[in-house]
Amino acid sequence: MTATIIDGKAIAQELRGNIAKAAAQLAKEHGIVPGLAVVLVGNDPASEVYVKSKSKAVTEAGMKSFDHKLPADTSQADLLKLIEQLNADKSVHGILVQLPLPSQIDSTLVLNSIDPGKDVDGFHPVNAGRLATGQRALVPCTPVGSVILAKTINPSLAGLDAVVIGRSNIVGKPLAQLLLAENCTVTIAHSKTKDLKEVCRRADLLFAAVGRPEMVRGDWIKPGATVIDVGINRVPGEGGKTRLVGDVNYKEALEVAGAVTPVPGGVGPMTIACVILNTLRAACASAGLPEPKV
Ligand code: NDP
Repeated sequence: MTATIIDGKAIAQELRGNIAKAAAQLAKEHGIVPGLAVVLVGNDPASEVYVKSKSKAVTEAGMKSFDHKLPADTSQADLLKLIEQLNADKSVHGILVQLPLPSQIDSTLVLNSIDPGKDVDGFHPVNAGRLATGQRALVPCTPVGSVILAKTINPSLAGLDAVVIGRSNIVGKPLAQLLLAENCTVTIAHSKTKDLKEVCRRADLLFAAVGRPEMVRGDWIKPGATVIDVGINRVPGEGGKTRLVGDVNYKEALEVAGAVTPVPGGVGPMTIACVILNTLRAACASAGLPEPKV
């Protein structure tokens, strides 16, 4: 069997186009231009690249982007003051604080200080609680993007056995909640799970969010399953260079799975698209409007 390759780049591009159309309609009908403030503390090169691509995506969708670049020695008090200003700023509908933060800053405290209505990362406990109780919430972008990709193969996920490897607050747990809301039978696996390979082999939908290069081998996959590889791992490549691989052995997965996401070009582009989707959703919610259709 040769699996269908799920083209996250193309799917994200289409989603971004739809978001731009919905944003244009929001501006035309209600005079609201969604705005995203991105806060970067320090100069971690990977974070800088990520922040730049988010700002670019926001602008391309016809939204406003407000970049706040702070020095690495910024105090926690100063960062909290900035968040307070952004919480009060009516032109800002979404606030995103790029992680990791320098060690003098308590990340949890900072993330919890963001107005839940502007928490486009969906990390605030209020949003986690709303998601868990089936209420309107801002949901973490990577899980949302992962489910959208799975639904391109299986438009209804109801009744499918889904296994999520990883239980972090930003990927694994919200992903499991979303799959439960889609009526999947969900198993959450983690580092203490027994017989992980056998657990994975039961999955119609297998999501790997572990951070271990190519850990999921071909013989862990049920033939015909949909495999969504969330992992992004940098490993040594040819000629002293590095290359990106996922948590799934892609070559082996291609032989067994029904569909699989590549790394790069799978979940990654969807995460950025879902940041602007959440900014649009936050802008609509702040004006008391229903969920935008994209
Ligand atoms: P974390 O390190 O926070 O969580 C990793 C999870 O994997 C933990 O729950 C851990 O279990 C579990 N785990 C670790 N080792 C094993 C193992 N040997 N067997 C089974 N489970 C294991 O990572 P994140 O959730 O933040 O990220 C996961 C991956 O997704 C990373 O590669 C990251 O780079 C990538 N990522 C990609 C994004 C994208 O846009 N595509 C966005 C965010 C993340 P335990 O809880 O028991 O320790």
